[in-house]
Amino acid sequence: MSSLSRLLAVPALMLSVLTGSVLVAQDAPSHTGARRAGIDVLHYEFRVDFPARAWPDTIRFASTTTARRVNAMALSLDLSSALHVDSTQVNGVRVAFTRPGDSVRVALPKGGNDTVRVAVFYRGLPADGLIVRRDSLLGWTAFGDNFPDRARQWLATVDHPSDKALVDWIVRAPATHRVVANGALIEESPEPGLPASPLVRTHWRTARPIYTGLMVIGVSPFAVLELGETACNLAEHAGCVRQSVWASPDRRAALPGSFARAGDIVAFFSTLVAPFPYEKLAHVASSTRYGGMENAGAIFYDQRLFTVGSPGESLIAHETAHQWFGDAVTEREWPHVWLSEGFATYFAALWTEHAHGDSAFLAQMRGIRAKLLKSPITGEKAVIDTTLDNLTKVLNTNVYEKAGFTLHLLRREIGDSAFFRGIRTYYAAHRHGNALTADLQHAVERASHRKLDWFFEQWLRRPGYAEVDASWSWNAKTKQLSARIQQGTRFAPYRLSLMVDLTTASGTVKHVRVTVPAQATSTITIPLTLSAKPRAVTFDGDVSFLGVLRQ
Ligand SMILES: [Zn+2]
Repeated sequence: MSSLSRLLAVPALMLSVLTGSVLVAQDAPSHTGARRAGIDVLHYEFRVDFPARAWPDTIRFASTTTARRVNAMALSLDLSSALHVDSTQVNGVRVAFTRPGDSVRVALPKGGNDTVRVAVFYRGLPADGLIVRRDSLLGWTAFGDNFPDRARQWLATVDHPSDKALVDWIVRAPATHRVVANGALIEESPEPGLPASPLVRTHWRTARPIYTGLMVIGVSPFAVLELGETACNLAEHAGCVRQSVWASPDRRAALPGSFARAGDIVAFFSTLVAPFPYEKLAHVASSTRYGGMENAGAIFYDQRLFTVGSPGESLIAHETAHQWFGDAVTEREWPHVWLSEGFATYFAALWTEHAHGDSAFLAQMRGIRAKLLKSPITGEKAVIDTTLDNLTKVLNTNVYEKAGFTLHLLRREIGDSAFFRGIRTYYAAHRHGNALTADLQHAVERASHRKLDWFFEQWLRRPGYAEVDASWSWNAKTKQLSARIQQGTRFAPYRLSLMVDLTTASGTVKHVRVTVPAQATSTITIPLTLSAKPRAVTFDGDVSFLGVLRQ
């Protein structure tokens, strides 16, 4: 059923994953890479033990990494130097370790092409990554918040989006709390402990590989609101998608609010793209630093959004769209993060189009465009920023709004049928794996039977946007309408596809799309037979122009 089972069964494919052979020249590795040559993590088991005390001043962790290796003689796992490592094991045998920087390194036994199991036992109170907070109402809460490379603050991992793995979470916490995580709930049962402070052991397991930025637990005295079975027969797993809301007990009365549409949102994307990729979908009020964080199968929202109701429908749609784009298909390198955020931005707008109609959709696209035009970074950096060397700057208006609008342009350029066929092909080819921009380009080129180098180049690989002065003139003698397009000098001219709306002398409204060449000045004859000068001519009525348009 999954590409994972194929991955585990076919050694040749494994080798191509290990060598990263799908990299193409124009998508060179970034300065933010952290791959391990010859290592491919298959599985993590994380054991997290919270003490049976009022405040978890020390949490004990055991992380077991199962990895395929080809000629690697050591394994370096990212892990904050602030945490104390007690011991390490390789294949069940205690071994020595070193702690260079924020990592833990063990030597691997002789051998070239096999599977190794590396366990790290460590403890401490993480300063980041797992956000542990006192709460006047709840005592304390703990929430994972790993994006983009903060898993290492509490989890010994190969902390990079290119190395996805299965996860088992085994968490022991006071019985006052419940634990939510990625995957399916396997077990929730009492643990031996002091009768006065009982413990519960909770086990969650993913059946699909995910990247470290999405591996989370939430530990809190949750009240759980079941949203029921949704999107039946529209998931990779047999049956329906169970959805639920996990929030603090005092918020429960305010729910479900926008979560009333959560089932429809999953059904919409499942129908538009592909079956829902995970075991369930939990919506969790949490301590994430983001408004919403698309952790696989367990979306974490800023809990402050729950104080006056619930997170908005648009945010729920954005984070839900990520389950396909960002989670199931993950950018191989950080400069391609737009494959996650641009898709979530645009697919949230597609939900608006589906649920609330064309005018609401166009208003959302106008809002996205206004935001990107206001942000200086769109004029300074390309969406695919290969100069990125600081992951605190990985998220910006380029990768959300400009990238989202670029997908909209692509849809207008090649048409709905080719666009969605291309997206589905791209998703199917990289589901539960990784992708780069070139992979998307190839898929939409095949779907549209067109070369689109120019499109990806001008919108994604260079800074800026179009700056256009558009006017029109009528030649009474030849009865021809012409558009004159002048492009600004700040950015090189763009090849554009521009909608022209005109009202004829008799009052009929006509729409015609014209191609504007990538040159400073163009005069374009509008391909329409008209008997008289039109009453009015306007440009971009369908909001498919990325830039500043003066008309
Ligand atoms: Zn997002």
